[in-house]
Parts: sequence; C-alpha cells; structure tokens
Amino acid sequence: MKNFKKIIAALLAGAMLMAFTACGTANTASETESMNESVAESAASAEDGASAADAADIKFATAGKLTMATNASFPPYEYYENEKIVGIDAEVAELIAQKLGVELEIKDMEFGSIIGAVQTGAVDMGMAGMTVTEDRLKTVDFSDSYATAVQVVIVKEDSEIATVEDLEGKKVGVQENTTGDIYASKDLGEDAVKRYNKGNDAVAALVSGVVDAVIIDNEPAKSFVAANEGLKILDTSYADEQYAVATSKDNTALTEAINKALGELKADGTLDEIVNKYIPAE
Ligand code: GLN
Repeated sequence: MKNFKKIIAALLAGAMLMAFTACGTANTASETESMNESVAESAASAEDGASAADAADIKFATAGKLTMATNASFPPYEYYENEKIVGIDAEVAELIAQKLGVELEIKDMEFGSIIGAVQTGAVDMGMAGMTVTEDRLKTVDFSDSYATAVQVVIVKEDSEIATVEDLEGKKVGVQENTTGDIYASKDLGEDAVKRYNKGNDAVAALVSGVVDAVIIDNEPAKSFVAANEGLKILDTSYADEQYAVATSKDNTALTEAINKALGELKADGTLDEIVNKYIPAE
C-alpha cells in the first residue's frame, strides 16, 4: 500500500518535473506526462483489486525455481560476463529468489518476447530494465519500482544534432519494442525509425553511419558510449521512467512476495549497494 503510493508519487513527480523542465520538448514532455498519469491511475486501480496474498499461494512455472525472462544485452542491468548473465537485475533477482527459498533461473530472450512469456506463465517474471507503461499494464502486473531511468539520445561527437527537435527528418536507431522505440515512432514517424534486437546493434549502426542517433535508456547509453569511440550523449533528456518487475496478473502472491523482498532490499541498503557496484558515482 505504502509502496504503491510511493510509485504514484514518483510518477506524478516525474510528470511534473517533465512539465517544468522540458521547455522546447513540448511534444515529448506532454506525451510522457499523460502516459505517466495513466500509469499512475492503472497502478491505483490495481491496488484496489489486490487481495492480501500468501506466500504459499505462489505458483512457479517450474517447481522450486524462480524463472526470470530478460534480454541480456542491456548493461549494467543485464549482460554477459564470461558466459554468465550478470548485472543489477540479475543480482537483485538472485536475492529475491533466496528470500523465496527457490533457485533463480534466467532465460535470455528478445526484449519483445518477455511480456508474452510472463503473461502465458512460461516464466514467473520479467526483469529487464523494464519500464512500467500503461500499455504493458493491460497484460501484466508490475512490482513496486526499484529504479528510475530516462531515455537519452546518443549521437556522434561531431553530430549537428544537439536537441530532441533536431531529430526531425533524421534516422533514429532503437531497440525493438522498447519505450525508446515507442517514443521515436510516435514523435518522428515509423519511417524514421530503424529497429534492432539489441541496443549494441543500434549503437553499431550509429557508429557505421546507418542511423544518425540512438534513443535508449541512460545507463546502457553510458556503457555503450564508454565502449565505442567518438560518441556522446545529448544533455536533452527524452522522458522519465520507472523500472519494475513484470509478473502475471494471475500470480498476485508472487507480485506481493517480490514487493516484500524489494522493500527489504531497499530498507537494509542492499539495493543501493548493488546499484553502486554497477553504477559508480560520477
Ligand atoms: N526501459 C526500456 C523499456 O522498458 C528498455 C528496456 C530494455 O531494453 N531492456 O522498454
């Protein structure tokens, strides 16, 4: 209850912040604002319908396991290191599984397949730096938020693109089915957007000049810019977002248990510790 209120407050604060700070990005800001408001409304109605769940009611896709779907090309949230999936989401999920007394199993798939896998119960949860959106809330539930993000624009260091407005008429690379894809397609038109399975592929297209910019979440953007010569992130922020764990609407007990675990990890400083390990303070 308290956590839901916090999310709503955070979403509304984000929306207000956008309204105040986004002079010159009128379109983007107002769309984000209305989206965040609707998300807040959906979260509020979900709360009304939620019943007190019991951990014993949790249904697992595979007994004894917490099965998580992700797309492991999204550093620092999930990526491969020595053939193992590591990152903030992987570590937080590991601790959630421990608290539930089960083993974590991670399934790597395309980002666009995660929601379906959660919805059909093929996996227990989706954790992939996934943003809470009004549209996704129609098919899955989300836990309390555990991170905030912002969509940013990556360009070449010598690019003439300096603001979101300058993207008009340019080719923009995105990761398919992500919020970056949704915003870019809405604001710039389908023809302007080139979709890639992995963020890394979109960035490679920018480096080789196939696209003029990439719209992606801020932390992966920092990783990609650090790993490639000659790229920079524009100061202009595109839109504010909340990351949460996606769960099936039929598994309220799991959602509640995840919220409890996340609450404990926030309260005892573990979440901050994990975040600081992967995102060193600037
Ligand atoms: N936060 C973005 C979204 O939810 C991107 C997530 C990702 O690419 N893993 O759409």
